Amino acid sequence: MVADGDSLDIHRARLRDGSVCDIDIRAGRISRISESSSGRVQHSSEPGRAAVPAIEAEGRLVTESFVDAHLHLDKVYTLPMIGEAALAAYTGAGMTDAATGIELARAVKADYDRAWITPNVTRALRDAVRHGVLHIQAFVDVDTVSGLEGLYGVLNARAEFAAVLDIQVVAFPQDGLLRDSGASALCEQAMRLGADVVGGIPWIEHSEKDMAAHVEWACALAAELGTRVAMLVDDTGDPSLHTSALLGRSMLEHGLVGRGVACHARAVGLYPVEEQVRLADLAREAGLGFVSDPHTGPLALPVERFLALGVTVALGQDDIEDAYYPYGRHNMLEVAFLASHLLELKTSADQAQLLDMVTRAAARVLGIADHQLAVGNAANLCVHHSERLVDVLREHAAPRWVISRGRIVAETEQVTVWGSGSDPTG
Ligand SMILES: [Zn+2]
Repeated sequence: MVADGDSLDIHRARLRDGSVCDIDIRAGRISRISESSSGRVQHSSEPGRAAVPAIEAEGRLVTESFVDAHLHLDKVYTLPMIGEAALAAYTGAGMTDAATGIELARAVKADYDRAWITPNVTRALRDAVRHGVLHIQAFVDVDTVSGLEGLYGVLNARAEFAAVLDIQVVAFPQDGLLRDSGASALCEQAMRLGADVVGGIPWIEHSEKDMAAHVEWACALAAELGTRVAMLVDDTGDPSLHTSALLGRSMLEHGLVGRGVACHARAVGLYPVEEQVRLADLAREAGLGFVSDPHTGPLALPVERFLALGVTVALGQDDIEDAYYPYGRHNMLEVAFLASHLLELKTSADQAQLLDMVTRAAARVLGIADHQLAVGNAANLCVHHSERLVDVLREHAAPRWVISRGRIVAETEQVTVWGSGSDPTG
């Protein structure tokens, strides 16, 4: 059954608190959440009322749709073009040689062309919809080698999917601003062409002075344009890096409280605890949210400590088959499942936290308002296959139904056909 239009009823939806409710959706928004009655109301048979399509959730868990807070969207599926030397350098030796990986990965940029980038992005966005990811913060390389080809490739695909999902495009100077003279002008041009967020990668610069100048440029531009800022910070195994703190302080100076995101921040995991606490204090004051992606590198932000200290933390897919990670299928349940192991978050309270880091908390990190299953909010929802969160995480399957703005945009069924005599219960 496929709904068309933006009215939909979901019968017998299990919410996070375990209660079973009926959810009414009208004009793309959640209009009512009521205790589920065993004798279901049949709206379609009410006189004078148009038939409203319905999903029989039968007690399955229903959550907000997923938010991917950090993805290098222009780079998806480029690993075969680059070769594995960059991957080995980025992830090896405690990430002390991560910058070499980035340098090796740079070679592909000479061949950047929207003609092949857009189909790759389209493939990643189809996987997003299938897996219930309806909001993405997409980093797109803008530099003097690739020019604006990655940006155009992503903007073209974004237009194709505009009715289904939202993408915040980050103009990202992957090779630096001081190191790559000309990148700042290109980023400013990218913002005029449709990018939403000013990007940065200060730690890639050659000196602390240049790192500070990089952060200052990005925050000043974001303040001038009235946009957000998102940076890839401290992404190597060097605890002397402090660009996360530079970003937090610059946000305060430029009036960007609550409008900044720090991605990766892996070196923070190597800081002494008291330094981690100081950075968390600054992050709270500046409204700086963090995105961790522990599956794409051997180091990670101390997520559990930052959560305990009241910092908003999301998880990101980060990469899909590019120079930094060979897997990825845009499945945020899979990202949460991997993080559960890599960060040792296993209890039921941890599982709830993991779900939050790919739904509501991730939305808060990106400044997306009202992304929660509540009356009046946009009906961006996933109906999962199972009743219990532990099973939803265990299976990390594409949701049974994905609902975007009140419309069913993907359905996935799981079917196993048993061979003759191989099902002992059959
Ligand atoms: Zn990244």
